[in-house]
Amino acid sequence: MVNKSYIIYDGPSQIDGSPIVAIAQVKSGNRKTGDMVQTWILRSDVDPITASRTGADSSICGDCMHKGKPSNKATGWAKDRTCYVNLLFAPNGVFKAYNRGVYEVAQGHDAIRAIGLLRGVRLGSYGDPCAVPNYIWESLISGADFVTAYTHNPTNPMPQNIMTSADTATQAHSAWSRGERTFRVISSLDKLIKGREVLCPASDEAGNRATCASCKLCGGNSVKAKSVAIVAHGASKRKAKQMIKESV
Ligand code: SF4
Repeated sequence: MVNKSYIIYDGPSQIDGSPIVAIAQVKSGNRKTGDMVQTWILRSDVDPITASRTGADSSICGDCMHKGKPSNKATGWAKDRTCYVNLLFAPNGVFKAYNRGVYEVAQGHDAIRAIGLLRGVRLGSYGDPCAVPNYIWESLISGADFVTAYTHNPTNPMPQNIMTSADTATQAHSAWSRGERTFRVISSLDKLIKGREVLCPASDEAGNRATCASCKLCGGNSVKAKSVAIVAHGASKRKAKQMIKESV
């Protein structure tokens, strides 16, 4: 098993051409996902907090509504940011390590494939997988045990492996009509669309019965199962619930 973290992509964002980097972290203590390769998609030229505050995170998050609105403040992240990823933790730490030259580059299909070989792999632990060319992900997951992945991009480039993120029932129905599976954030349990969605078993409301490594439901169409929903969670869950209610 590969036991070092590597840069798997360092080049232009597929969203807007700005410089980004994708780093595969082979060891992580994430309690929700369990033991999986995590992938961090970051602006390579701006630290994650500044990128959030200034809106430069569009290069890695696209138009996701949870990234918030750019702010004129001198510090902190974007106004009304509701993303559950805390930028102070892994994204900031990985960015600093990248700048210190800690990570080597995994060059080519075989080297990237080896990182994900027989492992669970999460595409976009932070950042949207759509920002990185598909061929990088195809190499990383080509020998993987299982994959979890989500995109807020209106065009899901790899529905076979990536769940389409939905913030409203309308968005979910639209994705289903295109044959995609969805991962939808809902404001309360009664918003679950029975017959089409199941509740994420790692959520508080489901009793935290699983980790992604034991559940494996979020692998796009390669998993023959219903779509998934989760009640808004994380530090900004109140704000997120409000946004979702307003946008249904
Ligand atoms: S449904 Fe399963 S794979 Fe998806 S986020 Fe929840 S625990 Fe992870």
